Amino acid sequence: MPGEAADAQLCPPADPHEGAPAATGGAEPLPAPTQAAEPAAIPSCKDFLDCLVDGNYGGEEDKSVLEAIANAILLRGKRPQIRLKHTNGRVVVYARQMSPRKALVKSSQANKRRAAARKLQEDTRGGMVGTRRDSPRPAREPVRLTVAEQVGLAAALRLSHIGFNRWRLALGGRRSGLASLSVLRAARRQLSDLPGKQVIVTGSGAHLASLTAAIQERVSALCDADAFVERPLADTQREPSGSAGAPAVAVLPGSPSPSELDVQITLGLDKGGDPGTVKIVATIINQAHPNSPSNTILVAVCPCQDDKYEELAAMLETHLPQVDALLRDGVLVRGVHRPVRLLLGSDYAAQCNVLGHKGASATQPCLGCKSTRFPSVAQAVLDDAYGTLQDVDTRRHLREATHFADRMVAEGAAAVVGEPGTAEHHCSVERSPLLAINPRQIVPIPLHCTLGINHRYLRLAVEMVMVFRSSADGAAAGRQAGASFALELVGLLHEKVRVRPTPYHGGLFIGRDCHTIGDSSALVCNALKGKVSQSHLDAYEQAWSLWNRVRKTLNRASIIPRAEAALFRADTAAMVRLLKGSFPWVSISPKLHILMCHAPAFLESFGSIGLYGEQGLEAWHGRYGQSAVKYPGATELERAAAFMRAMALAREAGADVLARYAPRRKPAVPGARMARKVGDKRRRENKPQLPICGAESRKAAKKRKMWAAGITKEAATTVGAHMQRAI
Ligand SMILES: [Zn+2]
Repeated sequence: MPGEAADAQLCPPADPHEGAPAATGGAEPLPAPTQAAEPAAIPSCKDFLDCLVDGNYGGEEDKSVLEAIANAILLRGKRPQIRLKHTNGRVVVYARQMSPRKALVKSSQANKRRAAARKLQEDTRGGMVGTRRDSPRPAREPVRLTVAEQVGLAAALRLSHIGFNRWRLALGGRRSGLASLSVLRAARRQLSDLPGKQVIVTGSGAHLASLTAAIQERVSALCDADAFVERPLADTQREPSGSAGAPAVAVLPGSPSPSELDVQITLGLDKGGDPGTVKIVATIINQAHPNSPSNTILVAVCPCQDDKYEELAAMLETHLPQVDALLRDGVLVRGVHRPVRLLLGSDYAAQCNVLGHKGASATQPCLGCKSTRFPSVAQAVLDDAYGTLQDVDTRRHLREATHFADRMVAEGAAAVVGEPGTAEHHCSVERSPLLAINPRQIVPIPLHCTLGINHRYLRLAVEMVMVFRSSADGAAAGRQAGASFALELVGLLHEKVRVRPTPYHGGLFIGRDCHTIGDSSALVCNALKGKVSQSHLDAYEQAWSLWNRVRKTLNRASIIPRAEAALFRADTAAMVRLLKGSFPWVSISPKLHILMCHAPAFLESFGSIGLYGEQGLEAWHGRYGQSAVKYPGATELERAAAFMRAMALAREAGADVLARYAPRRKPAVPGARMARKVGDKRRRENKPQLPICGAESRKAAKKRKMWAAGITKEAATTVGAHMQRAI
């Protein structure tokens, strides 16, 4: 021990900046002795050393303080050498020696070195440990949530007050820092009265009282948490290649100029669940994960049988004045008013209903342009003027930016198709649009496109088998071959790809499974060998490889680099041309058309399609279904209202709150978490084998049969019509 003190003598206050803040008033950078000799005046370094050498210190009670002094001197010093003078007069010098380090080390050692380098940098900058900007947690202080955040968290986790109280008691009651039940209830009442959280119940469903307030509240919370992400648009809203006559971007509420800073809000509605309810959801795109359910705003839950125009009009009635106000007044972002850019989410059918459009089977089915569905004699004027969806190389005539704002046809008016350019000509929009949306701001439905195109590809496989066999053995044999191949295909997908048709989305494969099927497309192609002509098989393989690239860009919820967006445009065009060129019976559905003609423009303009997708909306069906049991009520409307109230409160514990104290981790490299080792317990063969449940496998087999029968029927109709035309 004496040695350390001697060193202190050799180095008087050489490191004043390293002295503890408490010592700033005194000349000495040694705070420890103040504790040891508190009543007396602070001794000088020399006095302290003399005392130490005399043996006045060194008892058990001083041991810890002396150790602290030694640590303060020895560990924090940056001197190249330390001199120790022993009691016998001998001086020992300890010099720092650098030992050579390996130049190449593995990740664990590299991480340690990086951490050491960071610490060194901080020390030279004078920063204190624990105040790094990227370290969100201040030192080791206990985490404190406000009462409102606790109310929100309890609602988000669907935790009852009794359940919450049990946690509180288990964590030490008052000492836990959690609010008592009475405080919690009072805060809940107070929060529920806020305009952004109030729920009103009408005949059409349970609605948020003020969509405007709810959006403003979320935007302010994002700004406070420094989580508001700017989403600048590309300078010019570029039109698809070959478009002509499209007017410049009109000044439309909800469609500010691309150069202006805006707040992007997607409004979507979708029917789902059992019993069916329409959920209206608003998504603020200006955040990191806009489609995460906890980041979206549930605007209404409306129990319904149907989701056609009339029903949607009743459901939206409460919110339309709010939307108007939102578009007129904008949203405050850090004290500055910003215009709102309104985008229309939902699936295609709902988009058509909201806009008063006749739907996918209308004469002019596209919401973005005026092309007709098929060439026909009756619509020859329109076909000539605007081209058809089937024409892959035609010029597209985009709808005017104000097309859906015009309320062009009076409600209830008879649907008429006039000459292009006349007042009667309304491009299949038969009702007054419920929302004024710029056609360039209709989201190209990435999720539903993925579902639809995946299904189309599987159907195409069956059709190819039918065509091949029909040409050799006649239509009946072709149909038979198609039916047995459909069954084989769904069995293969079940056995090898481990996907199965779902009871919703029309009994198709759902989103996740579509990606799995795409990744295993080689299996589907292999199964076709010998059953189809080689030229068809080659084209089919090529079509899958194009789609596999396209679907990844289409669905990725992040900003897509420019080069990839350009590739997307080329790939979608090549894919649709290939399908049309190699398989003459394939008709370009509105989804394929959107993918080819409108998705690339949207991607180039907004930087991403996946960020604007329908996933956040669809997720609410699952959430509602799971939570129904927690919010019992005599009627569906009561359950919906209780659920809405809880979810409005849950927004208090959004991602900004949860991320405040949580450590932030870099996302793993894609594929880094795959089970690659043979012994990995996540692999199917290493999991405990359970006996096969007979009832379950019979049900699955029945579902597969239904899927196969459905797809065979569709394929037979298409191939039959194609054969007829060929004759
Ligand atoms: Zn179009």
